[in-house]
Amino acid sequence: MTRTHILALDQGTTSSRALVFDSRGRIVGVGQHEFTQHYPQPGWVEHDADEIWQTTLRATQGALAQAGLTSADIAAIGITNQRETTVLWDRTTGEPVHRAIVWQCRRTAPLCDELKAAGHEALFRERTGLVIDAYFSGTKVRWLLDHVPGLRARAEAGRIAFGTIDTWLIWKLTGGRVHATDYSNASRTLLFNIHTLDWDDDILRILHIPRALLPEARPSSGDFGETVELNDVLSAGIPVAGVAGDQQAALFGQAAFWPGMVKTTYGTGAFLLMNTGEQAVSSEHGLLATIAWGLDSRVTYALEGSVFIAGAVIQWLRDGLRIIDSAADTEALARSVPDTGGVYLVPAFVGLGAPHWDMYARGLLVGLTRGTERPHIVRAALEAIAYQVRDVVDAMSADAGLPPGELRADGGAVRNDFLMQFQADVLGIPVVRPVVTETTGLGAATLAGLAVGLWRSTDDLAKLWRADRRFEPQMPPIDRNRLYAGWQRALERAKGWEA
Ligand code: ADP
Repeated sequence: MTRTHILALDQGTTSSRALVFDSRGRIVGVGQHEFTQHYPQPGWVEHDADEIWQTTLRATQGALAQAGLTSADIAAIGITNQRETTVLWDRTTGEPVHRAIVWQCRRTAPLCDELKAAGHEALFRERTGLVIDAYFSGTKVRWLLDHVPGLRARAEAGRIAFGTIDTWLIWKLTGGRVHATDYSNASRTLLFNIHTLDWDDDILRILHIPRALLPEARPSSGDFGETVELNDVLSAGIPVAGVAGDQQAALFGQAAFWPGMVKTTYGTGAFLLMNTGEQAVSSEHGLLATIAWGLDSRVTYALEGSVFIAGAVIQWLRDGLRIIDSAADTEALARSVPDTGGVYLVPAFVGLGAPHWDMYARGLLVGLTRGTERPHIVRAALEAIAYQVRDVVDAMSADAGLPPGELRADGGAVRNDFLMQFQADVLGIPVVRPVVTETTGLGAATLAGLAVGLWRSTDDLAKLWRADRRFEPQMPPIDRNRLYAGWQRALERAKGWEA
C-alpha cells in the first residue's frame, strides 16, 4: 500500500486544525488557523462557514507541508468538529444563506422556553436523549427558517441544505456531491431519533422543519464520498471515511471501546463521556444520552456530562485576578502548600452544568482566614476542576450502576501532574494520561483508517493507544470523603445565588 497516512480535520470553535497521522497513530504534521468570531448581539455567536472552509484548507496545506507529504500519501480523510453549530446553504450555488449559528449562541432560548411550556420536554428527551436547550441545532434551524426572508419556501422546495460543520466540510470536500452526516453529529441536532437512527417526524412537525433540508445520517466509519480536486491542496479521489463530533471522537481516540469506559477532556470546560455500549441509557442524574459512534452496522451509545468552567478558572487566575503569570505556574504553587487550608473555590461563573444544571449559581470563594495566601487559592482552583469532574463521574456511576475502572484524560490541562494526581485521589480510581493527547484528531483518523483498511479492528486500535502515565489514588478514603464533603457544602452555598 502506498498511501499510508490519514488526514484528520479537527474543526473547532476558535480554530480549524489539520493533523496528519501515520499508520502507527503518531502525529507527523499539524496545521492550524484561527478564524473570526462574530457577536452580533449579546449572547449571540456566529461563524462564517466559508471562512471555516478556507481555514480548513490552509490548515491542511500546513499539516502536509510539515509532514513533508503530499495528498498522494493520504489514504483517507477523517473529520471531527465543533458540534451543534448550524449551517444552511443553497444546494445549487453552495452559498450559505446566513452565517453559521454557533453552539454557544443563546438566541433561541425564548423558543426553547415556549417548547417546554407547551409540554414537549418528555418527548424530545425520549427520542433524542437531549434536553430542550438553545445549545442544540434544531431550534437554530427553525430560527433561520423564520428569519431569513424567503428561506422557508426555498427549503420546502428542496433547494436548501442543512448541516452541522461535518456535513458542510463533507459537502465542500466532495464538491457538493455528498450531503451526509454521521450518527454522532446527528444525535446533537435535537432532530434525530437515537433509537431508530432516523430524523424524527414528530419533532420535525413540532419545530416546523421540512425533511427536505436534512442530510443522510450514516455510520461514523465508512463512505462519505471522495474529494474533488481542491486548489492544489488535495487531489481528487481521496475517500472521506470517518466522521464524529469532537467529544465522541475523543472517546474513540482514547480507545474507550468497551462499556463503562470514561474519558474526560480538560479544556476550557471539562467534557465527560461514558461508553454505555449498545444501550441508550436515559439519565436520572442530569446527564445526556447520545450516540458515541456507528461502526460495523452497530451503534454505540454514551452518557455525556459537561462542566462549563475547568481550564477557564486557571485563565481567570491569570487574566482576571492576575495572581499567576501562566497556567503552568499553578502546579508548583499548588504543591508549595500541603492543602488549601480549608479554602474552596466554586467556579460557577456562568452557572453550573452537569449534573447540577443551575443557571443561577455563581462563583464562590469560601473558607478564607487570615492565613489564606495565594498558593491556597491557586490550589483551590485546581482542586475545583477535579471536584466538578467527580460530580459528573458520580452521576455516571449512578446511571450506569457501577463506577468506571479508570478515567482516561486528555485536553490542555492534563499536563498538570498535580491536577491529575488530585483527580485520582478525589475519585478513588486511577487517572490515565495517554501518549497522544490529541485524542480528538486521533479518533477521527482511526475512524477513517478503519474504513479504508489501514487498521482492521478496534482491537488493533486499542494496541495503538499507549499510556504516558497512570496516576493511582493515594489519598486515604477518610481524607477523600472529608474534602469532598467540604466541596459539596461549598457547592450548596453557590447554588441559586443570582436571584
Ligand atoms: P480548548 O480546546 O477548550 O481551548 P485546551 O485543550 O487547549 O482548551 O486547554 C486549554 C486550557 O487548559 C486553558 O483553559 C488553560 O487554562 C488550561 N491549562 C493549560 N495548561 C495548564 C496547566 N499546566 N495547568 C492547569 N491548566 C492548564
